[in-house]
Amino acid sequence: MTADLASNAPPPSCELCGQPGVFLDRIGDRHLCGDHFVADVEQRVQVTIQKYAMIRPGDRLAVALSGGKDSTVLLHLLHRLMPGADLVAVTVNEGIDGYREATLRSAEANARRLGIEHAILSFHDLYGKNLDELVHGRLTRACGICGILRRKAMNTLARQVGAGKLATGHNLDDEAQSVLMNWLRGDRERILRRLEGNAGPGLIPRVKPLMEIPEKEVALYGILKGLFLELPECPYRHTALRGEVRGILTSLERGHPGTMRQVVEGQARLSRQLAPIPRASRPLQACELCGDPTSGRLCQACRLLDPEGGTGTLVSPDP
Ligand code: SF4
Ligand code: ZN
Repeated sequence: MTADLASNAPPPSCELCGQPGVFLDRIGDRHLCGDHFVADVEQRVQVTIQKYAMIRPGDRLAVALSGGKDSTVLLHLLHRLMPGADLVAVTVNEGIDGYREATLRSAEANARRLGIEHAILSFHDLYGKNLDELVHGRLTRACGICGILRRKAMNTLARQVGAGKLATGHNLDDEAQSVLMNWLRGDRERILRRLEGNAGPGLIPRVKPLMEIPEKEVALYGILKGLFLELPECPYRHTALRGEVRGILTSLERGHPGTMRQVVEGQARLSRQLAPIPRASRPLQACELCGDPTSGRLCQACRLLDPEGGTGTLVSPDP
């Protein structure tokens, strides 16, 4: 689906109830009112969770809550769709001056509003430095550095709170961007890893309940449910390749509705076909410095934090 907020009068009517429409599904060519749009998103997220058996009874589920739009919607949806689930919101504070304070307050307010346990871990506590210090002199690599360290911090925090799984707010746009970025980099390991998942000793398995919902629809859901305050954008955002890939895919989606879904589904089909082909992948072992699983001597985060390793090549992970 592709969302378009209604713009020109007269407003089209909801296909299901005749109320004024707020959303145009350009693939299904139908308008929905606010209530039916909200119900439709909730039903699709429910289907995704069931289709991939993302959450099972008794799971203690950590929900990655940055305080931004996607993670805020995710927390509310899981709270609503999974009554009785053992949810704990987990937030990593990277330490980004002028940006993180507001989103942290938003994360705390949302967790409190829903009565959900909330745990926070900062880069400073874990690594001894905040992101602003860590990217000093290498600003063009800010998102790559942030992604690697946040991934490790999030895994550490999920382990600390005793979670068996970690839910993240990645939406359909994020997934399509990741596919395209992996191909643009020729990153064979990541292309193949997407199907295999990231489970392994010491790694908390991740699930993405919003992975089939376009970003615009996640945002519209949050607006209709009154979840968002005006939030600042990360000052390092312009350094990411992802931003340019996002622009390309958004433009393609506008002209050719369904493009992002096709990119993601095409990758999944390809990965399934490639799965039976044996590959010589290195077994995971414990990082010599931190003990986290890695295919080399040191994990990516330790290579990055080590004065020698910090000069090595960084592969930007998914955010
Ligand atoms: Fe980190 Fe880049 Fe996202 Fe900012 S935009 S939070 S630096 S990944
Ligand atoms: Zn390590």
